Amino acid sequence: MNIVAPGGVIGVLGGGQLGRMLALAAARLGLRAHIYSDEVDAPAFQVTALKTLARYDDEAALAKFADGCDAITFEFENIPAATIQFLSARKPVAPDARALGLTQDRLAEKNFVISLGLQTAPFHAVDNGDDARMAFAKLNGAGILKTRRFGYDGKGQAKVTSADEAARATEKFGAPCILEGLVDFSFEASVIAARGRDGGFAAFDVPENIHENHILRRSTVPSPLSPAQEQQAKIIARKIAEALDYVGVLAVELFVGKDGALLVNEIAPRVHNSGHWTIEACTCSQFEQHIRAVAGWPLGDPARHADAVMENIIGAEADAWESLSRSGALHLYGKGETRMGRKMGHVTRLSPRK
Ligand code: AMP
Repeated sequence: MNIVAPGGVIGVLGGGQLGRMLALAAARLGLRAHIYSDEVDAPAFQVTALKTLARYDDEAALAKFADGCDAITFEFENIPAATIQFLSARKPVAPDARALGLTQDRLAEKNFVISLGLQTAPFHAVDNGDDARMAFAKLNGAGILKTRRFGYDGKGQAKVTSADEAARATEKFGAPCILEGLVDFSFEASVIAARGRDGGFAAFDVPENIHENHILRRSTVPSPLSPAQEQQAKIIARKIAEALDYVGVLAVELFVGKDGALLVNEIAPRVHNSGHWTIEACTCSQFEQHIRAVAGWPLGDPARHADAVMENIIGAEADAWESLSRSGALHLYGKGETRMGRKMGHVTRLSPRK
């Protein structure tokens, strides 16, 4: 087993806030992070000495980056599969190409989840307007059309309430899609869990997640799940991680049905916005946990010692940084430009565990 000792270098593809928080967690363990990003003002560049500014298909830059790293990971899933293949031939990459490839395609991901005996929303592959009409007829009058690849924060998604609308939206996207039945859920939740190189598994307590305009607004722990549902949610994440022989942190987004059923919405092969509260509320955060797994260290203790509410700071809300800084544990991501809908930071408020 490949273990990266203190002083070693963890390469991180992607330089957003997740890369930034991974780099900070690596530093605390005496590891160094090398951030690779194609954006000159990547927030993660601000916190690391080791950085590469290059495109994800620049093989010379990727080879040099791999030479300088002991293990490599990524902070977003829209990385070209060829990039991961290229790097995997040189250094250990975790999560691996299979986990990344599967979670990049909503259809493959849903088929995989079903193959494990888990539940999802009803879904149909849709490649053109005719498919969309036929698929819509099998739903209960409402659905969400999603592009199979490259969607995030509601992009590449459309709610549809008629066969015509479904057909139009499919043609507008002009890409392979899936049409999902609209789930009348009671609330949304997510399991943030980790699997180590030694097969060890650790799941954090499950937050309830509230979205606004397709962007995560708030995560709260504990969630309204019963202890049995909470246990079941963690078992779902474990099944997925073990079936993929996964290494690193993964997030499993769930719909909690009004009947109490847990439906898997999406798997993110990375640290996740709904796990940011673990920085203050847990012995070992999701970021430290991911670095530990990628570096081949034993997983840390995911125990939660406080109740927590994490709220995202979106767009111009960051202008209120001074009052926000008085209201809880403030994290600002160092993003120069404030744009509508852009995640600028978050604040976590703790209260004693009830
Ligand atoms: P996704 O990009 O698949 O995570 O979807 C983003 C958000 O859209 C989810 O967090 C839900 O709030 C909503 N959503 C997605 N799919 C469905 C569905 N099948 N039924 C109801 N709401 C959905």
